[in-house]
Amino acid sequence: MDDVLELEKRVAELNKTLHEYGRAYYELDAPIVPDSEYDEKMKELLAIEEEHPDLIYPDSPTQRVGGAPLEVFNKVVHRHPMLSLANAFNEEDLKDFDRRVKEATGNAVYVCELKIDGLAVSLQYENGRLVQGATRGDGSVGEDITANLKTIRSIPHKLNESLTIEVRGEAYMPKNSFVKLNEDRDEAGEVPFANPRNAAAGSLRQLDSKVAESRNLATFIYAVGGDAEVYGLDSHSDALNKVDELGLTTNKERKRCTTIEEVLEYVAYWTENRLNLDYEIDGIVIKVDNFESQEQLGYTAKSPKWAIAYKFPAEEVHTQLLDIELSV
Ligand code: NAD
Repeated sequence: MDDVLELEKRVAELNKTLHEYGRAYYELDAPIVPDSEYDEKMKELLAIEEEHPDLIYPDSPTQRVGGAPLEVFNKVVHRHPMLSLANAFNEEDLKDFDRRVKEATGNAVYVCELKIDGLAVSLQYENGRLVQGATRGDGSVGEDITANLKTIRSIPHKLNESLTIEVRGEAYMPKNSFVKLNEDRDEAGEVPFANPRNAAAGSLRQLDSKVAESRNLATFIYAVGGDAEVYGLDSHSDALNKVDELGLTTNKERKRCTTIEEVLEYVAYWTENRLNLDYEIDGIVIKVDNFESQEQLGYTAKSPKWAIAYKFPAEEVHTQLLDIELSV
């Protein structure tokens, strides 16, 4: 009986703490602990919930995406939810993912991509014209940040085809823009940003779009929102090629892999070489390529079962631009 009470107490504690951390990170762009600490607590809560499903709170952070949209922005209801990704922390987690995929679909082909450390955005084009740009928010409702996104050079106001399409990607601050911004802030006596992710998120959630314009942000598009098959596309790699043709920017380091060994090689290569990139990444995203296989695998409340995010080990995450602990 005591054990059960202890466990219930721990679950309540973890829920409360993760909500506090999440609010600081998602809603205020000012995290109060490093990502590794958040990830550790989330892992502990997930493990308890898996053993004791009766202890899953309806608003548990394991069941929810991101944070509430800020009131100062108009709200955008996403036509299709903008989800999170399940995490992998080691080779075994990736092999388990591969096993699950193969059990459900037979054979698997993957696309490996860099996990850009910025914030997720959705861009809605109507007849080829950019009409709306939004944050992910809580996954169902995001913030309308169209004016800010329009200042980013890698986001065309007009596509090469007059398509009506939603694309999704990561808005980020390149390392050189980040260094310059913090030098300027230092000179002006302002508090520097802790890392490019916070700087990008803070820049896009500004009411004055001149601020976003001055921050030299960029984007990589990593998906077509909703049902990409209506455009005659039947795989994720096809969809990204189409996105390129439309004049948007995708990340060129992606690789199609036909075995889990190739996936592991890609992960090892970028674990070793990621500091040479001129933007920050916090992991690798592995996605099942074929749309039919993706459908077979389906979704949890929070993330697709056809993708997984491998997170770099915490001690390496702490070697970033600033000689201080990341995110604090
Ligand atoms: P996530 O960062 O683990 O993964 C989902 C996100 O990855 C997507 O929304 C997208 O924005 C991004 N992404 C980047 N490149 C991508 C690509 N190529 N393809 C698809 N998606 C790509 O999930 P999350 O829910 O956004 O955030 C959880 C993470 O945020 C945690 O693991 C933790 O590290 C961090 N976090 C930290 C704190 C803190 O207090 N420090 C609090 C909350 C969350």
